[in-house]
Amino acid sequence: MKKVAILGATGSVGQSTLDLIEAAPERFQVTALTAATNVTQLAHDARRTGAQLAVIADEALLTELRQMLAGTNIQAAAGRDALAEAARGDADLVMAAIVGCAGLEPVMAAVEAGKTVALANKEALVTAGELMIEASRRSGATLLPVDSEHNAIFQCLAGQDCSQVARLILTASGGPFRTASAEEMVSVTPQQAVAHPNWSMGAKISVDSATMMNKGLELIEAHHLFGLPSERIDILIHPQSIVHSLVEYEDGSMLAQLGPSDMRVPIAHTLAWPERMATSVQRLDLLQVANLTFEAPDETRFPALRLARQALEDGGAAPVVLNAANEVAVAAFLDGAIQFPDIAALVERLLNDMTEAAPRTISDVVQLDAKTRGTAARMMLERA
Ligand code: NAD
Ligand code: MG
Repeated sequence: MKKVAILGATGSVGQSTLDLIEAAPERFQVTALTAATNVTQLAHDARRTGAQLAVIADEALLTELRQMLAGTNIQAAAGRDALAEAARGDADLVMAAIVGCAGLEPVMAAVEAGKTVALANKEALVTAGELMIEASRRSGATLLPVDSEHNAIFQCLAGQDCSQVARLILTASGGPFRTASAEEMVSVTPQQAVAHPNWSMGAKISVDSATMMNKGLELIEAHHLFGLPSERIDILIHPQSIVHSLVEYEDGSMLAQLGPSDMRVPIAHTLAWPERMATSVQRLDLLQVANLTFEAPDETRFPALRLARQALEDGGAAPVVLNAANEVAVAAFLDGAIQFPDIAALVERLLNDMTEAAPRTISDVVQLDAKTRGTAARMMLERA
């Protein structure tokens, strides 16, 4: 029995994880579940799975959570420290599926406790990659990539390190505006932006896919996970989302991982690792797909790609500022406060104005994240 804690259990990745676990009750046991504000879903899932601990991030909701868990043995808790506690508890595997830099501290708690961490929360790695990789070396923690591209690369590497790899190729669907002109993108609505052509995901990552910031964050994520420099990680548009990414070896051989556009495939890979588990996902029918096509990315229409690559190459505070500015801008776009092209514009302005030194500790990262959010929010207010 593998004991699993799910951070961000009520989200898209969290729910897919629960789906797989509940279909294989002989293999997995849920120890802890966490959520931001959705007490009803959290309590329901904790009861269903017989979890020992349910944590709600918003402390104002603890009483409600306790009421919903009354008559069970499930412990209820709330707040930042409780999230970290859920991460370092007695799970063998921690599914890190909180969205945004909010997941950083609990992910680090799991890493420092030497857990096997299935990492979906890419923002944690983008903002604190060096610190997290160092901490995992110290503690012996294992990081398993859940993000479909990184999971594909991990599978293509088959346990080898990157010493004989020429380059990594991250594929990108191109999102809902792949063929839209810059003028057309000015007036797109949040509804259009979250309607991803191939994947069903949470709102934030869906907007990131539309701006292509998602691929930019994934570039930084790949750098930290696999240790290759920016110039050896390429991005290729592949609208069918069938080839999830590729590894090119020094001898000219290229390995790719293919599969349906269903996050349950990479999630299952990390849950069962180093074994495999059966899933009920719709199998990929290559005859029906028939054509796999590839295009070069366009950094003029999608400036987020250029900004993220620059932030990776600059290092220091830049990736933290990039991520925080993007999180604030995406939330503002979803609220109808700014237009779609303003997202990348705001990120660029904050990166240009940035003067901060490189963060040396997780608490430096958390502070810089908060400070950048404040500046971004003020900038948008001034504009309005
Ligand atoms: P989501 O918005 O559907 O769910 C996010 C989860 O995090 C929820 O359980 C929510 O309650 C929790 N959460 C949000 N803010 C929080 C806070 N401040 N404190 C504590 N918990 C908080 O997001 P998602 O689409 O499941 O994505 C989760 C992560 O996985 C993201 O980093 C995303 O980039 C990554 N990812 C997702 C997909 C996908 O298919 N959805 C694919 C690849 C990578
Ligand atoms: Mg991805």
